[in-house]
Amino acid sequence: MSILQSVTVSQSIELTTPVDRLPIVQQRDIGPLITLGLTNVGRLVAHLPHRHEHEAGEDDIAELPAGRVVTARGIVSDTRVSNFGRRPKFEAKIEDDTGFVKCVWFNQTYLHRKIHPEMTLRVQGKAKRVEGGLQISNPQWELLTDGDDPGRRSERIRPVYPTTEGLDARRLESIIASVLDAALPLIEDHLDDAYRSEREFVTLADAYRSMHRPRSEDDIRAARRRLAFDELLLLQLAVQVRRQALRGAGKAAAMPTTEAITRRVRARLPFTLTPGQEKVAGEIAKDLEQDIPACRLIQGDVGSGKTAVALAAMLTGVAYKHQAALLAPTELLAEQHFAGIREILRDSKVTMALVTGSASSAERAAVHERLATGAVNLVVGTHALLSESVKFKLLAVVVIDEQHRFGVAQRAALSAEREPGALAPHTLVMTATPIPRTLAMSVYGDLDVSVIEGLPPGRTPIKTTRVSVPMREQVYAHLAKRVADGEQAYVVAPAIDGGDGENGAPMDLARTLEQLRVSAPEARVAALHGRMSREEREPVMARFRAGEIDVLAATTVIEVGVDVPNATLMVIEHAERFGLAQLHQLRGRVGRGSKASSCVLIAEATTPEAEARLKAMTETTDGFVLAERDLAIRGPGEIAGAQQAGASALKLADLERDRELLMMARRDAAAMIDAAPRLVGPEHALLRRRLLKAHGETLALAGMA
Ligand code: ADP
Ligand code: MG
Repeated sequence: MSILQSVTVSQSIELTTPVDRLPIVQQRDIGPLITLGLTNVGRLVAHLPHRHEHEAGEDDIAELPAGRVVTARGIVSDTRVSNFGRRPKFEAKIEDDTGFVKCVWFNQTYLHRKIHPEMTLRVQGKAKRVEGGLQISNPQWELLTDGDDPGRRSERIRPVYPTTEGLDARRLESIIASVLDAALPLIEDHLDDAYRSEREFVTLADAYRSMHRPRSEDDIRAARRRLAFDELLLLQLAVQVRRQALRGAGKAAAMPTTEAITRRVRARLPFTLTPGQEKVAGEIAKDLEQDIPACRLIQGDVGSGKTAVALAAMLTGVAYKHQAALLAPTELLAEQHFAGIREILRDSKVTMALVTGSASSAERAAVHERLATGAVNLVVGTHALLSESVKFKLLAVVVIDEQHRFGVAQRAALSAEREPGALAPHTLVMTATPIPRTLAMSVYGDLDVSVIEGLPPGRTPIKTTRVSVPMREQVYAHLAKRVADGEQAYVVAPAIDGGDGENGAPMDLARTLEQLRVSAPEARVAALHGRMSREEREPVMARFRAGEIDVLAATTVIEVGVDVPNATLMVIEHAERFGLAQLHQLRGRVGRGSKASSCVLIAEATTPEAEARLKAMTETTDGFVLAERDLAIRGPGEIAGAQQAGASALKLADLERDRELLMMARRDAAAMIDAAPRLVGPEHALLRRRLLKAHGETLALAGMA
């Protein structure tokens, strides 16, 4: 761009100036820029390179050293396509006043249509001395036309931007470069000087300058550190605001767990709590003692016995004549929890209700009435419980099971919207999808965390094998044999009916059932899937639990929570289609009793990620290890639940590598929100605005937006 242009731009530019008003931007650039979300100057500045490249400075050809990456400019004097030998190649001789260099591109003979004699080229690549002079193999090249010759290039670090079709990285680089001088001084910093210098952070403007126009690797490091910290700080502020909103939502019922309560509850459980369960039950009891609403995440691997711990908390609420609710992600799981708890509470005075979408409206109205009057002490339900028409007399304990299936939004819904002065419930959220520690800290920091260590006694580890599709027959034959020995099995298929799968695989439940008829004709088989009504589903589950059905052929409706200890074999069709957390959950349906259990993954790996998931499954049954692997395979933005909680806003920050920054952000965010709740006050206006921009959706729930 000419000097004249850059002057006019700098005079009129704002961060909000639309890109189509920039002189450098041409009509054909606009589509791709919009695709990239780069609609104005501010967005251009915020568009960071995904890597940097070292670019050698230009030299006279005679001065080019052999054995190094060099940059040369010259006029093409001769070109040649050679199709002989093993590799076809295109050659161009490039000359300046001092000498010539030969450029050779292997397997790129199409270049003869692009590079012609008389053109001026700039080439970069590793030079080597060959017979007859200097040669560069497969150099990067660019055409220099008289009009836009930027002059001789000096050595530099070049930013390489993520881009999209129709806009090459060099073009995007020029567009971004054209606004930097004018735009950078307009960037205000939301961190003040004292704060920055204490923590050795560069200014925001400097950080952007260094990312786009680094003078050294150190520049890039300092910039990255600052920008990664900003991402982490905003995320931590969001977490702290949510935390404060949850804790500050009025008072909760203070319910000290007395010895009498503990004795009564323990007497009803058909087993003794494990030390891991006792420890967490103790942590929850401490929460319930206080009149501050508890918000606790209870992590425990599949089968660790979270239900009993949650039940103890709910019964404490009931003992205080208040109400308790258990929220499950699927109807099947809600029904199972309801049946299981009803069994444990048989002959007690506790009144229970089940609320799911399947109930008729008359039934529902009746239950709603009993919840509102307090006639129901303990309610189990699906998200139907979150509907606005559900009112409680005094809800004291809320348990959300398998919380990874719920978003932050739903989590907040139950605890919000009360009449002024009404008591807020204590909330426990349970998950069997262990969240790696750094992730838990960063996105669930609004919750206190308890971990149930260990499994109930007598469990034998599940043996996991992975087989390929041609071995399916053998797997089903093995299943038939196990069933003949009195064991029970699940077979999971990815779809109810999906037509033919690849490789002749039975993709769907219908074909799985067919295979079972052929391979295990003696077995009593039943199907279970999401399109069945509760009336159809319940007897199937009841008969499977009673041992009257040998094989349950199911879709992923059984993924979470289903608990039938006698089932010992899990066969998963098309295991490559499932996520790691899902596979671990499905596998967790077996190995719940004392008998040895196994899990067979029938899979054709289709992608490196699928391969990595299957490998992880066969290598460990430890949910925490799998969660770490999952994080490594997919990155934090993809972890269920974490996305809604804001992890996808982390672009530069890496939770493992930037652990120290994370700790600093966490500490500082807590202090900031303590000192200025919701960041009110003019001195925080900028930070507050940026916070809302990054995390407005989840913050709206906390009443901030
Ligand atoms: P999850 O943590 O996966 O929700 P559950 O609460 O469903 O696990 O418990 C898994 C199984 O272990 C259930 O059959 C439950 O009855 C049993 N269980 C739970 N705690 C104990 C214990 N302390 N001793 C023996 N069995 C237990
Ligand atoms: Mg459970």
